[in-house]
Amino acid sequence: MNIYLLPLRFPDNHLLPDLASSISHAFNLTVLLLEKPLSLKEGYDPVRNQYNSTWILAQILKLFPEENCKILGITGLDLYVPVLTFVFGEAQLDGKAAVVSSFRLRDELYGLPKNAEKLKDRLEKEAIHELGHTFGLIHCHDPNCVMFTSTYAEEIDFKFIELCPVCSEFLKKSFHL
Ligand SMILES: [Zn+2]
Ligand SMILES: [Zn+2]
Repeated sequence: MNIYLLPLRFPDNHLLPDLASSISHAFNLTVLLLEKPLSLKEGYDPVRNQYNSTWILAQILKLFPEENCKILGITGLDLYVPVLTFVFGEAQLDGKAAVVSSFRLRDELYGLPKNAEKLKDRLEKEAIHELGHTFGLIHCHDPNCVMFTSTYAEEIDFKFIELCPVCSEFLKKSFHL
C-alpha cells in the first residue's frame, strides 16, 4: 500500500520532502507526492471565509479510484466542518482520504513571531494524526501520543510525533488483518 501526498493550494512546498519522510517512517510505507488539479471553489464558504473539509475529502475520493491506498490532501487554506469553528484536518475513519491544513499551525496567526521549526513539527504531527484515523485509529487518552486530539496549536507541541505503544500495537494488528 502507498500513501499519496496531494498538495492543494499549499504554499510551503519546501516542507513536503521532510513531511513525506516523517509519514513514511510513522507507517513504514512508501509516500509518493502527487500533483493533480482540483478546484476547491465549491468548498468555499464566503460567510465563514473557510473551506469545508468534508467536501474536500469527497473530492479527493473522486480523484482516486485506486482501492488500496491512503491519500492525504495538504493545504494552506483554513478548514471547517459545520459544527466546529475550525479544524486542523479531517479524515475518514478506516477509510482512504484525509486532509490537513497548515493555516492554524502558524504562530504568526496568534500574534507570535514566525517559527518555521514549529510549523514543520506541528504539520508533521497533524498529518500523521489524520492518516492514523484512516488506519482505524481513534483519539488516544495519552497526551503524548500523536493520536491525542489537540484543540489549540500549542497543544500539538506537547505531543510526540510517535504513536504510543497502545496505538502502535493497534496499527500493527490492523496491517496484519
Ligand atoms: Zn483526530
Ligand atoms: Zn495512543
